[in-house]
Amino acid sequence: MTFETLGLHTSILRAIADSGYTEPTSVQVQAVPAAIAGRDLLVSSQTGSGKTAAFMLPALHKFASAADSIDVSAADKTPNQERQSARSRGERPRFQAAKPKMLVLTPTRELALQVTTATEKYSAYSRKIKAVSILGGMPYPKQMQLLSRNPEILVATPGRLIDHMESGKIDFSELEILVLDEADRMLDMGFIDDIEKIVAATPETRQTMLFSATLDGVVGNMARRITKDPMIIQIAGSATKHENITQKVHFVDDLSHKNRMLDHLLRDASVDQAVVFTATKRDADTIADRLNIAGFAAAALHGDMHQGARNRTLDALRRGQVRVLVATDVAARGIDVPAITHVFNYDLPKFPEDYVHRIGRTGRAGRNGVAISLVNHAEGINVKRIERFTKQLIPVDVIEGFEPKKSAVASRSTARKPGGWKPGDARSSGTGYGNSNGNSNSNGNSSKPGQRTFSKPNSPSASSGSRSEGSGSGGGYKGSNSRFGDANGNRRSFGDR
Ligand code: AMP
Repeated sequence: MTFETLGLHTSILRAIADSGYTEPTSVQVQAVPAAIAGRDLLVSSQTGSGKTAAFMLPALHKFASAADSIDVSAADKTPNQERQSARSRGERPRFQAAKPKMLVLTPTRELALQVTTATEKYSAYSRKIKAVSILGGMPYPKQMQLLSRNPEILVATPGRLIDHMESGKIDFSELEILVLDEADRMLDMGFIDDIEKIVAATPETRQTMLFSATLDGVVGNMARRITKDPMIIQIAGSATKHENITQKVHFVDDLSHKNRMLDHLLRDASVDQAVVFTATKRDADTIADRLNIAGFAAAALHGDMHQGARNRTLDALRRGQVRVLVATDVAARGIDVPAITHVFNYDLPKFPEDYVHRIGRTGRAGRNGVAISLVNHAEGINVKRIERFTKQLIPVDVIEGFEPKKSAVASRSTARKPGGWKPGDARSSGTGYGNSNGNSNSNGNSSKPGQRTFSKPNSPSASSGSRSEGSGSGGGYKGSNSRFGDANGNRRSFGDR
């Protein structure tokens, strides 16, 4: 399959060629023709699957095709032109609300900026297509200036967008396409009311495309409410299972053991760039400081930082000036830097979905990556939850000289529940306890052969281990609803306002 066969406008094909894409990804193969045909889409796919192009290319195709048939001289004046005309007539210019044709809602500022950058790339040869980001943390005057250019495409986080809608700066009466990117995440962050309000302000005639890691539960309910006869696209495989990412767990005894192990792992020559995830913003700062003192080019990224500082840090990461980014979940969501070879979970995430998003920061654009979780013995239960969610077993690894005092078997067995994996779940994923080569890990640190604490899946001990680890009735991860901090969705971060 080629991009030409998807029927895209020549200006977009040119931009795709410049991007170096030779063939569409599977989400693009399925989504692009359906979206060009005007269908609503519900797409289950991860960041890293090429989903931005899957919704942006058909939208740009539509705008480029419409522009071909418009007499440019007869086109409406932009609000800026209207203001200039009013001034030249000696009248006081009125503020004209922006009337975008497309709105992309994203959970975080970083993802919004990334979508805007991708849009600029894909629309490099499209006449008269402007895309702007409307984000929390950005000065209002700057945003007013961007809106006054009457951009065709708005990429926004929900909170700030609502502010502009309520003050009459944006009018969605001419909106043609609405995209909800990482919809599950937006709901996790408590944006449901804002999303409902935004959707209600758009015309019924719009085309709606919703992208989410899952289409179950609350996301599925909302998706069905806001779409009409949608085409459902489920992208499984490596993008979801992250088959190109080597995952492992290292058990640690205490904080000092964890810090020593992290330093050791970061010094490995195979680490090009890395993201270290922490549970709290304060830890992100502290660990970044500690790593800098230890000689790493490290920087923190979290929601308490001003947008300008966050952008500067991400730019430095992209340019390779920052080698180790120490980040919290929300801040790091959607980061797309191909040179990130390793992700370290200094703290495990609170929710299994976040694990999937975290490890997806490496192994970008078809490369391989390594994701290592540093886990204390009491956290074995959380590893189990992640394994149940991803339906993959994460091998435990031990580095010579960094062996934990307590056996990893004991740590994991405390987490086991009655029940079991569904037949084939773990085995078909090709992973299992013990790594596949049985001795060395892929970042070059040699594990001691025979020191594996778990045996391979087809061994009797692993079978019994597997059987005892399923989603027992008590205490396990309970599906998408448990993502919400409480019944009112109070997990929302107000950092995006
Ligand atoms: P996304 O899932 O949209 O975050 O995209 C993940 C990465 O894949 C980005 O770096 C894109 O530039 C890249 N990408 C998207 N589509 C293609 C394609 N057809 N071929 C190669 N890379 C792609």
